[in-house]
This record gives sequence, structure tokens and C-alpha cells, in this order.
Amino acid sequence: MRYNIKKIRENFPILNQQVYNKTFVYLDSAASAQKPVQVLLKEEQLHNDFYGNIHRAAHFMADKATAEFEAVRDKIKDFINAESREEIIFTKGTTESINLVASSFCEKFLNAGDEIIVSEMEHHSNIVPWQLAAQRKGAKVVKLPFSDDGVLQIEKLPELINKKTKLIAVAHVSNVLGTVNPISEITKIAHENGVVVLVDGAQAVQHIKIDVQKTDVDFYVFSAHKMYGPNGVGVLWGKKKLLNEMPPYQGGGEMIAEVSFEKTTFNELPYKFEAGTPNITGVIAFGAAIDFINEVGIDEIAEWEHELLEYAKSKLDKIEGMNFYGESPTKTSVISFNIDGVHSYDLGMLLDKLGIAIRTGHHCADTVMQHFGIQGTARISFGMYNTKAEIDIFIAALNRVRMMF
Ligand code: PLP
Repeated sequence: MRYNIKKIRENFPILNQQVYNKTFVYLDSAASAQKPVQVLLKEEQLHNDFYGNIHRAAHFMADKATAEFEAVRDKIKDFINAESREEIIFTKGTTESINLVASSFCEKFLNAGDEIIVSEMEHHSNIVPWQLAAQRKGAKVVKLPFSDDGVLQIEKLPELINKKTKLIAVAHVSNVLGTVNPISEITKIAHENGVVVLVDGAQAVQHIKIDVQKTDVDFYVFSAHKMYGPNGVGVLWGKKKLLNEMPPYQGGGEMIAEVSFEKTTFNELPYKFEAGTPNITGVIAFGAAIDFINEVGIDEIAEWEHELLEYAKSKLDKIEGMNFYGESPTKTSVISFNIDGVHSYDLGMLLDKLGIAIRTGHHCADTVMQHFGIQGTARISFGMYNTKAEIDIFIAALNRVRMMF
């Protein structure tokens, strides 16, 4: 395999540290990925060499910053194979992207008595905005369930969809179960019934090649910080026709064409949805993260992470008392589990003292916890930089902790 893990890791100085005098092992990339030096240098370069507020002033610094900012829009367009750059809207993150659609799309298209189908394996940020919109409009949120192995029961979709259904909100990849959902299939069923589909790609876009045109989904959203980029930046991609029909989300500078006390007209896409000064630094540094992913290769990353997933699972399977959550045949690099007699918080805390960062708790996915009748899980997740040696360290530490209980 041409995957050069040693070279990749050289770009992430944080990974070469010790914590509590132990080798640092980072197994929490699903929460937020570490950043390569290229991203950090880009932020520094911006502030040293060409900072100015974008789109507005007619001076060198602003022009240069604007060009860099807009170039990232083109990079993202290519990265997800969007049809046009106007379809790429910068937000604060996945959460804001979903709130934007829930607010604006629902303002225009959702009526009293309508229904929104939301999968049972969603992050809170892909449930609550729909509940809020439904409350405002007198509409209803309907659950699309998953089975105990963590597979979405899409065979139930045709019976859940009716004339009142306006939208289906579903994660491409579950942040707890790791399940990769069949978004093209879901979209096909939805579109046959005139229903719009929003896909939460927060846990997918850093692991799987995304082609929004091929999948034919209507909205696709994600966050830069899970893609080795800065936090406070996200993307809403939407089909131009729908975005054009939707009213603005927030009012302010940049999103207008003309303002008077009598009448305000709005800017064109994508600026109609980008009110105020955006996270200029974040977006420009996000471009460096995209370049980095492209350089390593998304298919190569996927292959490596799959190898890590299989390796970790084969080791974990040998440990007594393990309970796994999410055993879909299509999975990305997330493993959620509990060990008999060990509370996940205790496990997380003890592993931390051994230098290993994992995630514990409900993972902002209460409906998944409710499905299994549990309070929380331990979760390990991999990024492009993890190694089998790190998994060995984790497994040894896990066995040590188990012995304590
Ligand atoms: N959706 C999924 C599947 C997630 O895993 C997360 C974050 O963990 C989010 C949405 C929210 O992302 P953000 O906090 O970057 O807005």
C-alpha cells in the first residue's frame, strides 16, 4: 500500500506528544480531528501577509483575502462534485447548516399538518432544529427507526412517507454506530414521492468520496473541524433551485442587494445566506485542509481507516464482556461499546490517565441511547493519522482497566 503513515503523522505535531508521561493516543477524531501544520501555517500566513475584510473594501489586502476565500468555495465545489460554486454556503458548522435549512426551507415549504421524517440515529443537531420548525408550523416529526445491529430500516420508508411528508433528514454516517446509510437509495424513494432529502455528512465527508450530483440528495452539510480544518466553519451545499426559492436565514451585511426603509432586496446565491463577516481565517485555512486530504487521497484514507477498523474490531472481539453498538456491514471508523461491569465514564477517565483519548457518554445522540436502553457508550474513532500500534496500546490499556474492576 502506498499509504505513507509515517509521513502523514509528521504533519500533526500534536500526535507526537506525551500526556501524563505516556504516549499520547488520540482516538477521538469523530468529535474533532487534529489539524496538520499546513492548516496552522495558512492561518498564520493570512494574518501576516494579506488580511482584510472580504468582499467589501477596494484595497489590496481585502482583494487578496477575498480571492483566497472564494478559491476555497471552488475547492469545496470540486471536493463534493457540486454543479456550481453558488451552491456552496459557508456557515459555522453542520449545526448551523441544518438550522439554516430547518428555518428557511420550512418557512417556505412546511405547513400545518405536514411531516418531516428523521432517522433514529441522528445527532441532536439533526433532530432538534426539525422539532423547532415543526413546532412553529404545527407540523410533525416522524421517526425512521434502525434495527438492533444499527442498520436503518429503509424498507419502512414507503409506509412512513405520505402526502404530508416534506423532507427526510438523515446522517450519511452515524457518529455513534458508524453505519454508512444508503443515501442514494433513500433519495430515490424520497424523490419518487416528491420529498426533499437533507443529508448530515459531518461523519462522512472526511472518510468517503462524496458526489452530491451522483447521490442526487438535495442538501448536504458538514463541518471543517472534523476534516482536519479549523472549528467554527461549516458548509451547506444545496441544489440551486431549492436555495433560490428559500428565503434568507439571517439579515445583515452581504446578504442584501439594496436596502431602504421601504424595501430591501436580497443578494444572489451564495451570498443571500452569508450575512455578516464570515469566519475568514477559518474558511481560508479550511482550504489548506482540503488540499491536505486531496494530497493524501480520500480513497487511500478510506482504505487505511477500514484496515484500522477491522484490526481494532478483531482485537476487541477477543475481550470478554464487550457489548458493541453498531454492527452494520457498511461502517466507517467508529466503534461504540460498553464493557460489563465498567461504566463508560470510568473507562474514559482511566484510559485518559494512560494517555489515551476516547469519547464517552451519549455522544449527542440520545435517541440512539434510548434505542439500546443505555445511558452512554465508550467510543473510539479513527482519523487518517492513526496506526495499528496505537490500537495495540489502546487494547493493552483496556485490558489493564478491565482487570481493575
Ligand atoms: N452531525 C453529526 C453526525 C455529528 O457527529 C456532529 C458532531 O459531532 C454534528 C452533526 C454537529 O457538528 P458541529 O458541532 O460541528 O456543528
